[in-house]
Amino acid sequence: MSYPIIDLRSDTFTLPSLEMRQAMAYAPVGDDVFGEDPTVNELEKYCAELFGTEAALYCTSGTQSNQIAINVHTHPGDEVICADLAHIYIYEGGGIALNSGCSVRLLSGDLGRFTAQDVLNNINNKNDIHLPLTRLVCIEDTVNKGGGAIWDFEEIKKIRKVCDENNLILHCDGARLFNALIETGISPAEYASQFDSISICLSKGLGAPVGSILVGSKAFIAKSKRRRKSMGGGMRQAGIIAAGALFALKNNVTRMAIDHQNAKEISAILKQHPLIQSIFPTTTNIVIAQTKKQDGALEMVEWLKERGIMCFPFGPDKIRFVFHLDINDEKMNQLKSVLLP
Ligand SMILES: *Cc1c(COP(=O)(O)O)cnc(C)c1O
Repeated sequence: MSYPIIDLRSDTFTLPSLEMRQAMAYAPVGDDVFGEDPTVNELEKYCAELFGTEAALYCTSGTQSNQIAINVHTHPGDEVICADLAHIYIYEGGGIALNSGCSVRLLSGDLGRFTAQDVLNNINNKNDIHLPLTRLVCIEDTVNKGGGAIWDFEEIKKIRKVCDENNLILHCDGARLFNALIETGISPAEYASQFDSISICLSKGLGAPVGSILVGSKAFIAKSKRRRKSMGGGMRQAGIIAAGALFALKNNVTRMAIDHQNAKEISAILKQHPLIQSIFPTTTNIVIAQTKKQDGALEMVEWLKERGIMCFPFGPDKIRFVFHLDINDEKMNQLKSVLLP
Protein backbone atom coordinates (compact mmCIF):
# COMPACT_ATOMS: atom_id res chain seq x y z
CA MET A 1 0.00 0.00 0.00
CA SER A 2 1.30 3.43 -0.82
CA TYR A 3 0.99 6.50 1.34
CA PRO A 4 0.10 9.95 0.03
CA ILE A 5 3.27 12.05 0.17
CA ILE A 6 3.60 14.58 2.95
CA ASP A 7 6.19 17.06 1.75
CA LEU A 8 7.83 18.94 4.59
CA ARG A 9 11.12 19.60 2.81
CA SER A 10 10.30 23.30 2.59
CA ASP A 11 7.41 25.76 2.64
CA THR A 12 8.26 26.40 -1.02
CA PHE A 13 6.51 23.15 -2.02
CA THR A 14 3.03 24.65 -1.72
CA LEU A 15 0.89 24.45 -4.86
CA PRO A 16 -1.43 27.25 -5.98
CA SER A 17 -5.05 26.55 -5.03
CA LEU A 18 -7.88 26.63 -7.56
CA GLU A 19 -8.96 30.06 -6.27
CA MET A 20 -5.41 31.37 -6.60
CA ARG A 21 -5.14 29.99 -10.13
CA GLN A 22 -8.43 31.66 -11.03
CA ALA A 23 -7.19 35.00 -9.69
CA MET A 24 -4.05 34.51 -11.81
CA ALA A 25 -5.94 33.49 -14.93
CA TYR A 26 -8.14 36.58 -14.94
CA ALA A 27 -5.58 39.13 -13.73
CA PRO A 28 -5.28 42.26 -15.89
CA VAL A 29 -1.73 42.45 -17.24
CA GLY A 30 0.61 44.75 -19.18
CA ASP A 31 4.33 45.28 -19.74
CA ASP A 32 5.80 45.75 -16.27
CA VAL A 33 9.18 46.91 -17.60
CA PHE A 34 7.20 49.92 -18.84
CA GLY A 35 5.39 50.09 -15.49
CA GLU A 36 2.14 49.16 -17.21
CA ASP A 37 1.11 45.94 -15.50
CA PRO A 38 -1.90 46.89 -13.36
CA THR A 39 -1.66 43.76 -11.18
CA VAL A 40 2.04 44.23 -10.41
CA ASN A 41 1.32 47.90 -9.65
CA GLU A 42 -1.52 46.84 -7.34
CA LEU A 43 0.71 44.31 -5.56
CA GLU A 44 3.48 46.86 -5.03
CA LYS A 45 0.99 49.49 -3.78
CA TYR A 46 -0.64 46.94 -1.47
CA CYS A 47 2.73 45.98 0.06
CA ALA A 48 3.92 49.56 0.46
CA GLU A 49 0.68 50.41 2.28
CA LEU A 50 0.82 47.27 4.41
CA PHE A 51 4.40 47.98 5.52
CA GLY A 52 3.93 51.75 5.70
CA THR A 53 6.82 52.35 3.30
CA GLU A 54 6.96 54.79 0.39
CA ALA A 55 7.38 52.10 -2.22
CA ALA A 56 7.75 48.39 -3.02
CA LEU A 57 9.22 46.29 -5.83
CA TYR A 58 8.15 42.83 -7.03
CA CYS A 59 11.25 40.67 -7.55
CA THR A 60 11.71 37.24 -9.07
CA SER A 61 13.00 35.60 -5.88
CA GLY A 62 14.08 36.27 -2.33
CA THR A 63 17.68 35.90 -3.37
CA GLN A 64 17.18 38.57 -6.00
CA SER A 65 15.48 41.02 -3.63
CA ASN A 66 18.17 40.52 -0.96
CA GLN A 67 20.96 40.87 -3.48
CA ILE A 68 19.43 44.00 -5.00
CA ALA A 69 19.11 45.55 -1.53
CA ILE A 70 22.71 44.70 -0.60
CA ASN A 71 23.93 46.11 -3.90
CA VAL A 72 21.98 49.36 -3.65
CA HIS A 73 23.02 49.92 -0.03
CA THR A 74 26.77 49.33 -0.50
CA HIS A 75 29.85 50.17 -2.56
CA PRO A 76 32.49 47.57 -3.56
CA GLY A 77 34.93 47.07 -0.69
CA ASP A 78 32.38 47.89 2.02
CA GLU A 79 31.70 45.42 4.80
CA VAL A 80 28.36 43.78 5.55
CA ILE A 81 27.56 42.54 9.05
CA CYS A 82 25.35 39.45 9.26
CA ALA A 83 24.94 36.24 11.26
CA ASP A 84 27.05 33.17 10.48
CA LEU A 85 23.75 31.34 9.83
CA ALA A 86 22.45 33.97 7.39
CA HIS A 87 20.85 32.88 4.12
CA ILE A 88 22.44 35.90 2.36
CA TYR A 89 25.85 34.50 3.29
CA ILE A 90 25.35 30.72 3.05
CA TYR A 91 22.70 30.15 0.41
CA GLU A 92 22.87 32.94 -2.17
CA GLY A 93 25.69 31.61 -4.31
CA GLY A 94 28.32 33.96 -2.93
CA GLY A 95 26.14 36.82 -4.17
CA ILE A 96 27.47 39.40 -1.72
CA ALA A 97 30.94 39.00 -3.21
CA LEU A 98 29.81 38.35 -6.77
CA ASN A 99 27.25 41.12 -7.15
CA SER A 100 28.46 43.74 -4.73
CA GLY A 101 32.17 43.07 -4.07
CA CYS A 102 31.70 43.42 -0.32
CA SER A 103 33.43 41.66 2.51
CA VAL A 104 31.36 40.09 5.25
CA ARG A 105 31.70 40.21 9.04
CA LEU A 106 30.02 37.10 10.40
CA LEU A 107 28.57 37.25 13.90
CA SER A 108 27.73 34.18 15.89
CA GLY A 109 24.67 34.46 18.05
CA ASP A 110 21.75 32.68 19.61
CA LEU A 111 20.10 30.72 16.77
CA GLY A 112 21.29 33.28 14.24
CA ARG A 113 20.31 36.31 16.34
CA PHE A 114 23.01 38.75 17.49
CA THR A 115 22.70 41.77 19.77
CA ALA A 116 23.12 45.52 19.35
CA GLN A 117 26.28 45.21 21.45
CA ASP A 118 27.62 42.59 18.99
CA VAL A 119 27.04 45.04 16.14
CA LEU A 120 28.75 47.84 18.06
CA ASN A 121 31.75 45.59 18.77
CA ASN A 122 32.15 44.79 15.07
CA ILE A 123 32.01 48.21 13.44
CA ASN A 124 35.38 49.02 11.91
CA ASN A 125 37.14 52.26 12.81
CA LYS A 126 36.42 54.38 9.75
CA ASN A 127 39.61 56.41 10.27
CA ASP A 128 41.81 53.32 9.92
CA ILE A 129 42.57 52.93 6.21
CA HIS A 130 43.45 49.26 6.69
CA LEU A 131 39.87 48.35 7.39
CA PRO A 132 36.88 48.02 5.08
CA LEU A 133 34.12 50.52 5.77
CA THR A 134 31.27 48.95 7.69
CA ARG A 135 28.16 49.95 5.77
CA LEU A 136 25.28 47.53 6.17
CA VAL A 137 23.77 45.32 8.87
CA CYS A 138 21.47 42.47 7.79
CA ILE A 139 19.24 40.44 10.05
CA GLU A 140 17.11 37.44 9.06
CA ASP A 141 13.65 37.10 10.62
CA THR A 142 12.66 34.35 11.17
CA VAL A 143 16.04 32.57 11.08
CA ASN A 144 15.88 29.59 8.74
CA LYS A 145 18.96 27.83 10.13
CA GLY A 146 17.94 28.83 13.64
CA GLY A 147 14.82 26.65 13.46
CA GLY A 148 12.53 29.55 12.59
CA ALA A 149 13.67 31.66 15.57
CA ILE A 150 12.05 35.08 15.94
CA TRP A 151 14.09 38.20 16.71
CA ASP A 152 13.29 40.18 19.85
CA PHE A 153 11.77 43.44 18.61
CA GLU A 154 13.32 45.40 21.48
CA GLU A 155 16.76 44.19 20.39
CA ILE A 156 15.97 45.19 16.81
CA LYS A 157 15.19 48.72 18.05
CA LYS A 158 18.55 48.80 19.83
CA ILE A 159 20.30 47.66 16.64
CA ARG A 160 18.47 50.43 14.76
CA LYS A 161 19.84 52.92 17.28
CA VAL A 162 23.39 51.60 16.86
CA CYS A 163 22.96 51.88 13.08
CA ASP A 164 21.70 55.46 13.35
CA GLU A 165 24.55 56.47 15.62
CA ASN A 166 27.15 54.92 13.33
CA ASN A 167 25.77 55.83 9.93
CA LEU A 168 24.91 52.22 9.05
CA ILE A 169 22.06 50.88 6.95
CA LEU A 170 19.75 48.14 8.28
CA HIS A 171 18.22 45.50 5.99
CA CYS A 172 15.96 42.61 6.95
CA ASP A 173 15.87 39.31 5.06
CA GLY A 174 12.25 38.70 5.96
CA ALA A 175 11.78 35.63 3.78
CA ARG A 176 9.52 34.33 6.56
CA LEU A 177 8.70 37.65 8.21
CA PHE A 178 4.96 37.00 8.31
CA ASN A 179 5.62 33.91 10.42
CA ALA A 180 7.30 36.21 12.96
CA LEU A 181 4.60 38.88 12.81
CA ILE A 182 1.75 36.41 13.21
CA GLU A 183 3.42 35.01 16.30
CA THR A 184 4.38 38.34 17.94
CA GLY A 185 1.36 40.40 16.89
CA ILE A 186 3.62 43.27 15.78
CA SER A 187 2.13 45.02 12.76
CA PRO A 188 4.03 45.03 9.45
CA ALA A 189 4.24 48.86 9.53
CA GLU A 190 5.56 49.01 13.10
CA TYR A 191 8.16 46.39 12.24
CA ALA A 192 9.17 48.08 8.99
CA SER A 193 9.65 51.43 10.75
CA GLN A 194 12.95 50.05 12.10
CA PHE A 195 14.48 49.14 8.73
CA ASP A 196 15.81 50.81 5.61
CA SER A 197 14.62 47.84 3.55
CA ILE A 198 12.92 44.47 3.96
CA SER A 199 12.67 41.54 1.55
CA ILE A 200 9.68 39.23 2.01
CA CYS A 201 9.12 35.90 0.22
CA LEU A 202 5.66 35.43 -1.21
CA SER A 203 6.49 31.94 -2.45
CA LYS A 204 7.04 30.28 0.93
CA GLY A 205 4.39 29.78 3.61
CA LEU A 206 2.13 32.33 1.92
CA GLY A 207 1.73 29.90 -0.97
CA ALA A 208 2.28 32.11 -4.03
CA PRO A 209 4.05 30.34 -6.91
CA VAL A 210 6.68 33.01 -7.64
CA GLY A 211 8.30 36.09 -6.22
CA SER A 212 9.42 38.26 -3.36
CA ILE A 213 8.68 41.85 -2.46
CA LEU A 214 11.21 44.48 -1.50
CA VAL A 215 9.96 47.46 0.52
CA GLY A 216 11.68 50.75 1.34
CA SER A 217 11.88 54.44 0.50
CA LYS A 218 11.01 55.86 -2.91
CA ALA A 219 14.66 56.64 -3.62
CA PHE A 220 15.78 53.15 -2.56
CA ILE A 221 13.13 51.41 -4.68
CA ALA A 222 13.94 53.59 -7.71
CA LYS A 223 17.58 52.45 -7.51
CA SER A 224 16.46 48.87 -6.86
CA LYS A 225 14.31 48.89 -9.99
CA ARG A 226 17.33 49.91 -12.06
CA ARG A 227 19.41 47.18 -10.41
CA ARG A 228 16.67 44.57 -10.91
CA LYS A 229 16.75 45.32 -14.65
CA SER A 230 20.51 44.87 -14.85
CA MET A 231 20.22 41.58 -12.96
CA GLY A 232 17.78 40.36 -15.60
CA GLY A 233 14.75 40.66 -13.35
CA GLY A 234 12.65 42.99 -15.50
CA MET A 235 9.53 40.96 -16.27
CA ARG A 236 6.80 41.69 -18.81
CA GLN A 237 3.22 40.46 -18.14
CA ALA A 238 4.22 39.57 -14.60
CA GLY A 239 0.70 40.31 -13.37
CA ILE A 240 -0.06 36.63 -13.98
CA ILE A 241 2.23 35.68 -11.10
CA ALA A 242 1.74 38.89 -9.11
CA ALA A 243 -1.97 37.99 -8.91
CA GLY A 244 -1.01 34.79 -7.06
CA ALA A 245 1.12 36.84 -4.69
CA LEU A 246 -1.70 39.33 -4.04
CA PHE A 247 -4.11 36.47 -3.44
CA ALA A 248 -1.64 34.94 -0.96
CA LEU A 249 -1.21 38.20 0.94
CA LYS A 250 -4.95 38.74 1.18
CA ASN A 251 -5.90 35.17 2.12
CA ASN A 252 -3.00 33.22 3.57
CA VAL A 253 -1.38 35.36 6.26
CA THR A 254 -3.45 34.77 9.39
CA ARG A 255 -3.75 31.04 8.73
CA MET A 256 0.01 30.70 9.31
CA ALA A 257 -0.83 30.32 13.01
CA ILE A 258 -2.05 26.82 12.09
CA ASP A 259 1.38 25.96 10.67
CA HIS A 260 3.01 27.08 13.90
CA GLN A 261 0.60 24.98 15.93
CA ASN A 262 1.30 21.95 13.72
CA ALA A 263 5.07 22.48 13.96
CA LYS A 264 4.94 22.70 17.75
CA GLU A 265 2.81 19.56 17.98
CA ILE A 266 5.18 17.54 15.79
CA SER A 267 8.20 18.98 17.58
CA ALA A 268 6.89 17.59 20.88
CA ILE A 269 6.26 14.17 19.32
CA LEU A 270 9.64 14.02 17.58
CA LYS A 271 11.38 14.70 20.89
CA GLN A 272 10.27 11.20 21.96
CA HIS A 273 11.45 9.50 18.76
CA PRO A 274 14.16 6.82 19.28
CA LEU A 275 16.40 8.22 16.50
CA ILE A 276 16.18 11.84 17.73
CA GLN A 277 18.47 13.42 20.30
CA SER A 278 17.08 16.94 20.60
CA ILE A 279 15.05 19.62 18.86
CA PHE A 280 15.70 23.32 18.34
CA PRO A 281 13.13 25.48 20.17
CA THR A 282 10.07 25.49 17.90
CA THR A 283 8.35 28.87 17.75
CA THR A 284 7.14 29.19 14.14
CA ASN A 285 6.76 26.79 11.19
CA ILE A 286 10.21 25.15 11.18
CA VAL A 287 11.30 22.10 13.16
CA ILE A 288 15.00 21.23 13.23
CA ALA A 289 15.75 17.91 14.87
CA GLN A 290 19.18 16.57 15.78
CA THR A 291 19.72 12.84 15.38
CA LYS A 292 21.27 10.63 18.06
CA LYS A 293 23.88 9.39 15.60
CA GLN A 294 26.44 11.98 14.50
CA ASP A 295 25.77 11.14 10.88
CA GLY A 296 22.16 10.07 11.32
CA ALA A 297 20.41 12.63 9.10
CA LEU A 298 20.26 10.58 5.89
CA GLU A 299 19.13 7.45 7.73
CA MET A 300 16.27 9.39 9.32
CA VAL A 301 15.36 11.04 6.01
CA GLU A 302 15.17 7.57 4.39
CA TRP A 303 13.20 6.07 7.28
CA LEU A 304 10.61 8.82 6.90
CA LYS A 305 10.59 8.68 3.11
CA GLU A 306 9.67 4.98 3.22
CA ARG A 307 6.65 6.09 5.24
CA GLY A 308 5.60 8.83 2.83
CA ILE A 309 7.15 11.75 4.69
CA MET A 310 9.68 13.99 3.04
CA CYS A 311 12.01 16.19 5.06
CA PHE A 312 15.33 17.86 4.36
CA PRO A 313 18.79 16.85 5.64
CA PHE A 314 20.26 19.96 7.27
CA GLY A 315 23.84 18.86 7.89
CA PRO A 316 25.11 15.37 8.85
CA ASP A 317 23.12 15.14 12.07
CA LYS A 318 20.15 17.46 11.50
CA ILE A 319 16.90 17.27 9.60
CA ARG A 320 14.44 20.05 8.89
CA PHE A 321 10.64 19.93 8.62
CA VAL A 322 8.80 23.01 7.38
CA PHE A 323 5.03 23.35 7.84
CA HIS A 324 2.87 25.16 5.32
CA LEU A 325 -0.64 25.58 3.99
CA ASP A 326 -0.76 22.27 2.14
CA ILE A 327 -0.39 20.33 5.41
CA ASN A 328 -4.00 19.78 6.40
CA ASP A 329 -5.55 17.85 9.32
CA GLU A 330 -5.57 14.59 7.37
CA LYS A 331 -1.84 14.86 6.65
CA MET A 332 -1.17 15.84 10.26
CA ASN A 333 -2.98 12.70 11.44
CA GLN A 334 -0.98 10.54 9.08
CA LEU A 335 2.23 12.20 10.17
CA LYS A 336 1.41 11.60 13.82
CA SER A 337 0.57 7.96 13.16
CA VAL A 338 4.06 7.46 11.67
CA LEU A 339 5.96 9.38 14.35
CA LEU A 340 4.14 8.19 17.43
CA PRO A 341 5.56 4.96 18.92
C1 LIG B 1 14.14 31.09 0.92
C2 LIG B 1 14.91 32.16 1.56
C3 LIG B 1 15.39 33.27 0.84
C4 LIG B 1 15.18 33.48 -0.63
O1 LIG B 1 15.11 32.37 -1.37
P1 LIG B 1 14.64 32.26 -2.90
O2 LIG B 1 14.60 30.80 -3.06
O3 LIG B 1 15.67 32.94 -3.70
O4 LIG B 1 13.31 32.93 -3.04
C5 LIG B 1 16.07 34.24 1.53
N1 LIG B 1 16.28 34.13 2.85
C6 LIG B 1 15.82 33.11 3.57
C7 LIG B 1 16.02 33.10 5.05
C8 LIG B 1 15.13 32.08 2.96
O5 LIG B 1 14.68 31.06 3.70
